[in-house]
Amino acid sequence: MKAETRMIRPGCTLGILGGGQLGRMIAMAAAQLGLRTHVYAPDDNSPAFEVAAECTIAPYEDEANLVRFAKAVDVVTYEFENVPSETAATLSAHTLLAPNAQALAVSQDRFLEKSFIAGLGIDVAPFATFADEAELVEALGRIGRPAVLKTRRFGYDGKGQVMLRHDTDPAAAWAEIGRASSIVEGFVPFEREVSVVAARTASGAFAAYDLCANEHSHHILDTTQVPAGVSREAEEQAVRIARSIAEALDYVGVLAVEMFLVTEGGRERLVVNEIAPRVHNSGHWTLGGAVTSQFEQHVRAVCGWPLGTTARLGRVEMKNLIGHDADAWEEILSEPGARLHLYGKAEARAGRKMGHVTRVFPERD
Ligand code: AMP
Repeated sequence: MKAETRMIRPGCTLGILGGGQLGRMIAMAAAQLGLRTHVYAPDDNSPAFEVAAECTIAPYEDEANLVRFAKAVDVVTYEFENVPSETAATLSAHTLLAPNAQALAVSQDRFLEKSFIAGLGIDVAPFATFADEAELVEALGRIGRPAVLKTRRFGYDGKGQVMLRHDTDPAAAWAEIGRASSIVEGFVPFEREVSVVAARTASGAFAAYDLCANEHSHHILDTTQVPAGVSREAEEQAVRIARSIAEALDYVGVLAVEMFLVTEGGRERLVVNEIAPRVHNSGHWTLGGAVTSQFEQHVRAVCGWPLGTTARLGRVEMKNLIGHDADAWEEILSEPGARLHLYGKAEARAGRKMGHVTRVFPERD
C-alpha cells in the first residue's frame, strides 16, 4: 500500500502515542514549527505531558479513547515500537498513522524483522526460531556457538536475552527467559556497534545522518560518537541498507537501523541487528550536533514537509545521563559548549534515562 499523503500545516495537531522522553522531544520540535501536540499515554507522570497542548491518560487498548484521540488530531506518530497491532489498526481507521502499521509489525517481532531484512538481501546474523528444546538444540547445531537466545517480542536494553556459550545448557537458558517464543542467533564478533538514523517522506524523499558509533554499558546506550570512524565504503553501505529498508516498508518518519561492524580480512562489513521505527537514542546527538535534529526531521517527515539538511556541525559526542549521572547537572551547565537535556523525570532510578549531554568539537582532519 502506498503511503497516504495529507496536507498538514502549522497550526494542525500532531498526535503522539507514548509519553516518554522521545515523545517529549518530538513535541518540543513540533511546537517550534507551529504545530500543536496531543500526547496519549497511560502513565499520568509521563515526561511528554509537560510540553504538550493536550494529553489523554488512558491505556493503549482503550478503543473509545483511541478513537477520540485519532479524531482530535491530524496525524498520529509514536515513540515506541510495542504499540499493539489492534491499537495501530484503530488509529489507522480514523487518521493517518506514520510510520505505518507494517513498520510496527515487522520491528516488534525479532523473527519477522530478521526474515524481512534478510529477504532484502541484507546481512543479518544466522537465526532460527524453534518450538521446543529439541528444535532449539538442532538450530544451535546449525548456527554454532556462541549464540544468543532472544525473545521474539518485548526485548530491550538486553532484557529477554541470554548468551549460549560453549558450556551453557540450552534448556536452562531458554527457561531463564521464561520459555517465551524466541529466536536463536549466531554471535557476531563485532568490532563496534554503529547505527544509521534516517528519514523518509510519503513522496519518497530520503535523508540520512552520518553513521554513528555506539557504546553500551550494562546493555544501555552510554555514548554515541559521530563520525563513527569507519571506511567510506561502510558509511555508504550503511546508508544504502537504511534506504532499502525504508523503501521496502514504504516508511514515513525517522527510523534507526542498528548494525554490527565486522572486520574480515581487513575489510569492513555490516550486519544488521535491528530496526527502530522511531526516533532513537543514538540520534540524540543531532539535537545541537546537526543542522536539523532527528525530532524536527521526524515531524517534517510525518507532516509531508521538506526534509531538513542532515549536515553535522562538527565532531559530536552524546553521553546519556543514567540514574544519578544527572545529579551533575550544575557541573555540566558550567562546562562551555556542553548542551544539557533533562527529561523532567522526578525519580533517578538505576538504569533510568534521565537526560543526555551533547558536546560538539571542531572536526579533526
Ligand atoms: P538487542 O536487544 O538485539 O539490541 O541486543 C542488545 C545488545 O546485545 C547489542 O547491542 C549487542 O551488544 C549484543 N548483541 C545482541 N545480539 C548479538 C549478536 N548476535 N552477536 C553479538 N552481540 C549481540
